[in-house]
Amino acid sequence: MVSKNPRVAYFCMEYGLDNRFKAYAGGLGILAGDYMKGAKDYGYPIVGIGIKWKQGYTDQLIDADGQPYDTYHNYQYEFLEDTGVTVSVEIRKREIKCKVWKLDCFGNAPLYLLDTDVPGNEDAWITGQLYGWFGEERIAQELVLGVGGVRALRALGIEVDTYHFNEGHALFAGFELLREKMEAGQSFEEAWAASREEIVFTTHTPVVQGNESHPISRLLYMGANMGLTKAQLVKLGGDPFNMTVGALRLSRKSNAVAQLHGETANKMWAHVKNRSEIVAITNAIHLPTWVDSHMIQTAEKGGDLWAAHLKNKRALVQFVKDRTGVELLVDNLIIGFSRRAVPYKRSDLIFSKPEIIDPLLRDRKVQLVFSGRAHPLDDRGKEIAANLVAMGKKYPGAVVFLENYDMAIGAALTRGADVWLNNPRRPMEASGTSGMKAAMNGVLNLSILDGWWPEACRHGINGWQIGDGFEHDDVEILDAHDRDALYRVLLEEVLPTYYDTPAKWVDMMRASILDTKEYFGVKRMLEEYYSLLYK
Ligand SMILES: *Cc1c(COP(=O)(O)O)cnc(C)c1O
Repeated sequence: MVSKNPRVAYFCMEYGLDNRFKAYAGGLGILAGDYMKGAKDYGYPIVGIGIKWKQGYTDQLIDADGQPYDTYHNYQYEFLEDTGVTVSVEIRKREIKCKVWKLDCFGNAPLYLLDTDVPGNEDAWITGQLYGWFGEERIAQELVLGVGGVRALRALGIEVDTYHFNEGHALFAGFELLREKMEAGQSFEEAWAASREEIVFTTHTPVVQGNESHPISRLLYMGANMGLTKAQLVKLGGDPFNMTVGALRLSRKSNAVAQLHGETANKMWAHVKNRSEIVAITNAIHLPTWVDSHMIQTAEKGGDLWAAHLKNKRALVQFVKDRTGVELLVDNLIIGFSRRAVPYKRSDLIFSKPEIIDPLLRDRKVQLVFSGRAHPLDDRGKEIAANLVAMGKKYPGAVVFLENYDMAIGAALTRGADVWLNNPRRPMEASGTSGMKAAMNGVLNLSILDGWWPEACRHGINGWQIGDGFEHDDVEILDAHDRDALYRVLLEEVLPTYYDTPAKWVDMMRASILDTKEYFGVKRMLEEYYSLLYK
């Protein structure tokens, strides 16, 4: 019975619920948005806690020289409901007022959003830009999310059995739970043991540097210790203080976001003593948001899948034309690739042997549509994006870069492309949900065996694997291996299937849809959260 399920408060810095609501940067937010919609669809007692970002994440556009630049706007939303509740949090010894908004109009379970942009607040900027600025600002934002979030739940009278921290950003909510108990007379050790019982944690990035850490002095200076001593902080998160380590030690159970990521995360955090067990719960997507239901019905009924796909492909061709003026050829292969612009995702791998790819692009047998934003402070990521823009100039009509990757671009590409290309350095991709969107839309995955793909891939039947799960510490060796594997599959399997055996292509589309539509749907993920994490 759903009503007996534990009541969960889910904390996340970002939520990708709808393109009109600028409260997400990437995959973490998309997962949180899909989770909240699944919670609503299947009637789970879940509420979300987040932040109302005044300026959202960057709108990253491309200038006339082909360089990315960041722009920000102040957003106003008519769909937020004023709860009338305001809580306060002390940050850097100043009282910060946080107004609490409610959002539940995107088919999602109730989401409560904290907002410091209220009259009289000296520090109204805190909820300005998602992932904006530097360490101190990040801590201030996380204090609003975590401490403000728990206080909002109390003020709203919402009872909670389990606090779920999606990523270490929410860890200060755990500090607030400790503070409440210690104020009621418990010792640190007692409060720690009791709070752990209430907290579960989802870890994401398998890249060590991607796990946020802070000098202990910075936590003390910001007032983020919430009354904990330096020694107590070190016991939780080490020195420097690692937010992921802290969350692993302040939770009763943790999860990684794919089966392979479960292995990676357990190795990565093996040295952390007294941490919670990390189980694997593979991410999933909210089908009504991302998948053309007509594709699924057609696959199930054995109808004309190619005709159904062509409609989506034409819509993508039009979308690209409207945005860039480039007219892709509907009859030729379109490969989609959109992800955050960071080196390990290797968006330029396919260009690495010009003698192979150049002729294919010149006669437009291969057409590539890219998108992706870099973090505003990541110059290397912006170079990657600029390089893709330059490829678009070199191969007009065959390579396109869509600026300002967002949910609209994500949806158009994962419906309308023929192939979804994913070639990260294994095992650095934790899960990757865009490939699931593609798979269920009959867009065939061509992917390294990383993230979720090893769980779904049947090579040559429902998509293709690039390589064989090869890993190497020397990135030059790894990149050369994967590049050769990519070209081999592209030349020997993908292109011949597309151009010479279209009936086989359609069989693969059908297998792709039927193999993924249940397991990688958010229903299964929520069931596993309840059976493996929340119970
Ligand atoms: C689906 C989606 C993501 C997540 O994609 P990955 O597979 O993790 O790269 C990120 N951003 C947007 C806009 C999306 O639609």
